Amino acid sequence: MKKPLKLFSSRRKFVKRFSQGVGSSLLLPSGLALSQWSCATKSQQGEQSQEQTETPAKKDRLGVALVGLGSYSTGQLAPALQQTEKCYLAGIVTGTPSKAEEWKKNYNIPEANIYNYDNYDELANNPDIDIIYVVLPNSMHAEYTIRAAQAGKHVITEKPMATSVEDCERMIAACKENNVELGVGYRLHYEPYNQEMMRLGQEEVFGPVKSLETGFAFNIGDPTQWRLDKELAGGGALMDVGIYTIQGACYTLGEQPVSLVAQEFNSGNEKFKEVHETIEFSMNFPSGLTSKHETSYSKSYNYLKAEAENGWFQLDRAYDYGPLSGKTSEGEMDFPQIREQAVHMDAFADSVMNGTTFKAPGEMGLRDMCIIEAIYKSIENGNTEVDIDYRS
Ligand code: NDP
Repeated sequence: MKKPLKLFSSRRKFVKRFSQGVGSSLLLPSGLALSQWSCATKSQQGEQSQEQTETPAKKDRLGVALVGLGSYSTGQLAPALQQTEKCYLAGIVTGTPSKAEEWKKNYNIPEANIYNYDNYDELANNPDIDIIYVVLPNSMHAEYTIRAAQAGKHVITEKPMATSVEDCERMIAACKENNVELGVGYRLHYEPYNQEMMRLGQEEVFGPVKSLETGFAFNIGDPTQWRLDKELAGGGALMDVGIYTIQGACYTLGEQPVSLVAQEFNSGNEKFKEVHETIEFSMNFPSGLTSKHETSYSKSYNYLKAEAENGWFQLDRAYDYGPLSGKTSEGEMDFPQIREQAVHMDAFADSVMNGTTFKAPGEMGLRDMCIIEAIYKSIENGNTEVDIDYRS
């Protein structure tokens, strides 16, 4: 059996943070009992009397504020937050007043927990909000994560974590400095079909993996959307969905690549004048395996396939919200279809409340950005092999 996958530990000074929990002097989220624990900001902590800090009460569920009420927040995260057990939708941050009204009604959000991008930093004074979930266009993740950390809030940021390695490093540093947890929206670490790929690959159930192929692509519509704007998106299909194939290879193999080769294909469509349309790349792993990847904004596929010495295993719908499906050389996989986002957010909340290890911390988002930068470098250098610089 292989060595266990090196875990990205997100547990940090949990005990210290827990011991800083505040007493009942702060406002309580609607529907939560007095005995529940609230994350205090540094200034609030300073204001507490000694008596109040002696017996910190613990919250049963943490309050989440979603930042950016676009399609992912609306279609997936808000519904998932109706199913979570360790966190709940406590607030929103939006630049669109009509959405604020609609969400307030639909989800019974108190007026005091509704923010916009101008008064965002005032979240620091709101004890209802423990976790800020950044669901903005990619290039805005860094700024809103850093400001969340400075407000003393734990943060989940969507993928890609940022649009540069440098930004990922700044985000990690800000969270460390402010003693808050940082997670990435990599929901598939908590999804049963993908967890089975991790088990079969990492535990070498069919023997060592000999080949791995994976791809994620969709046909992008509206040419004016931010995903096609380099400044907001940072890149094209690779940043958006190709990143899942990097994840898929790493978690199936339980390794991270050391070098890679990449190539870009462009149909000449006006849509893709700022960002890459299609990229193919192969990544070399320490075990000697070379994984093959494809990603595109003008095709449609979604798979993760591994062949091992004594059998094969694959997902063909691998990366979306389900229904996912998979099979092995021994038959069909049969796992429950779950609300991936609910389990993912509950796991993050649990890591904050109980110090458990969250499987998709900021360090993992940084790793993937190092790989993405190496892919761009290989393309710029005329498809040459590039060593991946993990900067650590
Ligand atoms: P949308 O375009 O649907 O929503 C983005 C929202 O961000 C907007 O609705 C708006 O909300 C806010 N916003 C603030 N400034 C801008 C701006 N300059 N341009 C556009 N929007 C702005 O995007 P998605 O919800 O699809 O994606 C958001 C993030 O989530 C991305 O990083 C994406 O990669 C990630 N994502 C992750 C998925 C996953 O499975 N993990 C799936 C889908 C997306 P408001 O009006 O409230 O201010």
